[in-house]
Amino acid sequence: IVKAVDVTKLYGPFTALDKVSLEIAKGEVCCIIGPSGSGKSTFLRCINQLEKMNSGAIWVNDELVGYRREGNNLHEINDADMARQRRRVGMVFQRFNLFPHMTALENVMEGPVQVLKEPVAEVRKRAEDILARVGLSDKISHYPSQLSGGQQQRVAIARAMCMRPDLILFDEPTSALDPELVSEVLDVMKDLAASGMTMIVVTHELGFARNVANTVAFMEAGKMVEIGPASEVLTSPKSPRTAEFIKAVH
Ligand code: ATP
Ligand code: MG
Repeated sequence: IVKAVDVTKLYGPFTALDKVSLEIAKGEVCCIIGPSGSGKSTFLRCINQLEKMNSGAIWVNDELVGYRREGNNLHEINDADMARQRRRVGMVFQRFNLFPHMTALENVMEGPVQVLKEPVAEVRKRAEDILARVGLSDKISHYPSQLSGGQQQRVAIARAMCMRPDLILFDEPTSALDPELVSEVLDVMKDLAASGMTMIVVTHELGFARNVANTVAFMEAGKMVEIGPASEVLTSPKSPRTAEFIKAVH
């Protein structure tokens, strides 16, 4: 469902991504690990078109991201096509990014109603079901300021789910949380994975990676150093750099 080939991203003279490739099948969970500054967020942002890559190509659902082909030439897609592609990809950030003036339910309903123009009653039903699934039935009328960090992050995940995307990207979804709130968010993500959602998760939670991920990718200095089955990469990595990193995170 996701295929990235030789994705390169420069910031001025600085190479943030150096020919990064990755392939993920439908329903798979891929965890990306790696030190600060290695390009993990930049890679997610290229998949989601929050950044424009300099070279390489990304496909989501067999559709080229950001470009269309005409004969042998590639053309940038227009804003409407880009918006359509971006709607198919959910994103959950480290900071919960909820609308502060909307309740949990309103936050979850906003995208499907305002962006997808779906009927309000239908979306409300779906949003209530999803909020129940993430364990927040009793909080649907709360504003973000009335919720804990873990609850806010669960609303953010519910909001991504309610758009019924093909893929959800998570960028360190638990690293801004107090330690005792981490597991409630990881549990929700684990359920989501079990339900068949395709997910790319940047995380330092190696336990989650071990238990939930199909593949683990290790990035360093803009390069994809190693990628493989979660059990292999986490227990017997091929690269000494991966081994050092895993040891340091523990
Ligand atoms: P972290 O674990 O700290 O979140 P990361 O792996 O997500 O790190 P990125 O945020 O992708 O790393 O950044 C990769 C590199 O690109 C970093 O060296 C960063 O300084 C640089 N970078 C990111 N965004 C920009 C930007 N807008 N302009 C210039 N340099 C940038
Ligand atoms: Mg980052």
